[in-house]
Parts: sequence; C-alpha cells; structure tokens
Amino acid sequence: MRALVLHGPDDLRLEDVPVPRPGPGEVVLRVTRALTCATDAKMLRQGQHPALPPPPAPFGHEAAGVVSAIGPGVADVHEGDAVVVANSAPCGACPPCVAGRPSLCEAIVYLTGAFAEYLLVPARIVERNMLPLPAGVAPERAAMVEPLACAVRGVERVTAGPGDEVVVLGGGVQGTLITALLAARGCLVTICDPHEERRARAVRFGAARVMDAPRDPDAIAAVRAAHGAGRGPDAVVEAVGRPGAWEAAVAIARPGGEVLVYGGCAPGTTVTLPTFPLHYQELTIRGSYHHTPEAVRAALGHLAAGDAPYDALIGDEVTLDEVPGILRAGSGEKRPVRMD
Ligand SMILES: [Zn+2]
Ligand SMILES: [Zn+2]
Repeated sequence: MRALVLHGPDDLRLEDVPVPRPGPGEVVLRVTRALTCATDAKMLRQGQHPALPPPPAPFGHEAAGVVSAIGPGVADVHEGDAVVVANSAPCGACPPCVAGRPSLCEAIVYLTGAFAEYLLVPARIVERNMLPLPAGVAPERAAMVEPLACAVRGVERVTAGPGDEVVVLGGGVQGTLITALLAARGCLVTICDPHEERRARAVRFGAARVMDAPRDPDAIAAVRAAHGAGRGPDAVVEAVGRPGAWEAAVAIARPGGEVLVYGGCAPGTTVTLPTFPLHYQELTIRGSYHHTPEAVRAALGHLAAGDAPYDALIGDEVTLDEVPGILRAGSGEKRPVRMD
C-alpha cells in the first residue's frame, strides 16, 4: 500500500509498505479520508514527537475509514463498519486516570499512520475511542473529531457562562472551534486574529465581535479596554501557542477573571508574568491538553448535529503525494486527504 512515512526533520516520504495485519484486539481500517493538522506540520518540522514512534514512523492522526480486517478477540466490530477514530486512548488505570483526569494519562496510547491506504488501530483505541460513523456525516467532517474533542476539553476548563465576555486570541482551527462552543454556551466571544478571512469566518461560528491580533502593549491595552466597561473580559482563551500570546492573555483578562492557556508552545520556552494580577486580583490561569473519551463522544455529537458550519474549516481535497508540500507551507488549515 502507499503510505507517508516520517524519516526525520522535513523528511516525509511516500512509500510502498506492507498492508498492516491486525494483532490481538487490533483493527485495520481502509482509510476513506484523513485530515491534515497543524500538529502534523509541527511534527514534520521537528522530525519526531511524543505521539510518534521513533523514525521511520507512520504519519497522520485524523481519519475516518471502513473496517477491513479484525484481530483476534475484538468484539462488536465487523468488516465493512464505517468508523471514526480518535488519535489516542487513556489506560483507565494509572493515578491520573483513576482521579478522573484521563487527558493526563501516564500510559496513553497514540494512533499514527492515517496518511496511508490502510491504518492499524491499536487495541486500546479500538476498545475506547473508535466510534461508528454517524449516518449522513461525511468522513472528512467526522475526522475532525480529534481537534473538536480538544476544543471540547478546553472549554470544560473555562467557567465563563451566558452573557460573560470571552476574548479568544487566535482564529485558526482551534480558536474557531472554541469560539463556536463558547458562543453556544451563551458567552459573548471576541476573536482576535490578524487575518481578515479568519475574522470573517469566526463570525459564522458565533463570534460576537472581531479584532486584530494585539501585538504590542497599546494594542493589548485596547483589547482589554474594549471589554467589561474598560476592566477587561471575564475570560481569555489563548489559542496561538506562542509565549507572547500567553503573556498578552494575562494582560487582557479582568481582575478576578480567568485565562485558559490552550496553545502549546515550542519545547523549552518560558513566559514572564506580572505578579500583581495573579495575587492582588485573583486571576486564575488554567492549562488544557488533549482530550478525554467523553470529549471525543461529545465532539462527534456536535459534528453529527452540524450545530456549527464545521465544513468551512476544511479546504480542498488533496492526494497523498501533495501532503508534504501542504504541511511545509504550514498554514495550519485542514485539508482532506484521499488515498486513491
Ligand atoms: Zn490533529
Ligand atoms: Zn492512564
């Protein structure tokens, strides 16, 4: 079969490899659609990632497919079933899992290899995070279950409610999905992004207002001043993944407000935070990583309900051989990948 294989930094090759055979508990899917992801672009730049085996590594982690082979011991799965998979599954037994924090699982199993004609699904994911494709949902939309599950998990960490003002920094795929979820909750969301087309798209996803990305102290002060009668918004969600944006998020939130640092920054980076708002103004800062099995199910429910214009996040279809160039261009926008 044809598959993209990561050999190192900026070295992603289309190769002929054997079709995987399922071991105990495993399933093989014929991939109908995979999606590119900003994380793929990051993995390609770095040449490795905690969610990948050492190179040469199968590549791609967002996929919908049809079950083509079933390993021994798999129950309730049949050849020909149309399914969608999340890109990981927690163990359910380690201390964080037992404490109800499966996104922090110490023995998480990741899926990789979606950019291929056939995809081996690990036993744990078959058991916990492989779900039937909902009737009438296109495979490329269903494959968005992983990014949307991350957003679902992220907004669980935001306490802002109906009528509260939330500023979302970053109008990429993640900032836009978070905007949709918070708007559905009744929050008044302002999205900040430098690109006009992303700001326009955010309005379709429920943003109440849009502003340019604040990149200097005056612009940061202006975003704060535009909310909460000058005191700042109730909550700020950072969905950029740069230390400067983390610092801006803290500077924008109102006294007593909350900040979600959602965008993962480059390894080894640090931020400098003012102590005054953290102590004297009781500012709360939370992180959010990855997703949970509950969030995966909630995300698939949203995609099936079509409660936001999700397809507007998906660009034109590409073939396997076009994927390395798309990832190098690095816009972070999602492109459906077909395998034929
Ligand atoms: Zn992804
Ligand atoms: Zn665990």
